[in-house]
Amino acid sequence: MNRRWFFLLTLLLVPCFTAALAATEPDFDSMRQQMIEEIEQQVRETASQLDDDKLDPRVIEALAKVPRHEFVLPTRRHQAYENRPLPIGYGQTISQPYIVAVMTDLLQLDPGDKVLEIGTGSGYQAAVVGELVKKVYSIEIIDTLGRKARKRLKRLGYDNVKVRLGDGYYGWKEHGPYDAIIVTAAASHIPPPLVKQLKPGGRMIIPVGSRFATQQLVLVEKNKQGELRTRQLMPVTFVPLTGGHKR
Ligand code: SAH
Repeated sequence: MNRRWFFLLTLLLVPCFTAALAATEPDFDSMRQQMIEEIEQQVRETASQLDDDKLDPRVIEALAKVPRHEFVLPTRRHQAYENRPLPIGYGQTISQPYIVAVMTDLLQLDPGDKVLEIGTGSGYQAAVVGELVKKVYSIEIIDTLGRKARKRLKRLGYDNVKVRLGDGYYGWKEHGPYDAIIVTAAASHIPPPLVKQLKPGGRMIIPVGSRFATQQLVLVEKNKQGELRTRQLMPVTFVPLTGGHKR
């Protein structure tokens, strides 16, 4: 084939391929925007529990950036922007986007912060926090999930998020203390090692309760003197925090 024909053929085929691809891939950007509007609506509806009727604009920006469809199972991509939890395999779930937004917002993160997450799961929550702070350390107890999340986060460019395989009940002492800690599995009590690894002036958000009942989202604040204040904010449903510690 001479060069002119090749050029013409390319001119003809490239738009065809692009159109075919566009037809198979949903418009994730506008779906994500729609998801954010639903979250903002739900935040207004639950304002009395949150002491706030809107999210920090930085949290909204982070939600607008993270491609949630990359964090769900391939068979669930079309549901990735529905405001609800989805299965991610191994009996675990990626949290409801509203819950991710609220928990992130409650941590009142600053760009220079170092954050610890317990329960990496898909890596979505870690990515959202990763958009807002300098460094995220995340621990996952199920090997395969942790490895997959680590690979995914790397592929998507979240170099500031580090994933470790292990029991998060004991935290990640080497990198502590942390400005904020987020636990995304329900614990029967607030793990003392995590309280220890929280900086004075830091905040921890954690669902507390049994696996058979509704749990409470609890905000733990450590003041500059190291004293704790805990507040129950709203009922939530999380998968349990497992591991060898006494429950
Ligand atoms: N943050 C996740 C969702 C969490 S689901 C996301 O954005 O997708 C809760 C996760 O906590 C599950 O993956 C579960 O395996 C993990 N988990 C449960 N107990 C744990 C423990 N003791 N240490 C670390 N991870 C734990």
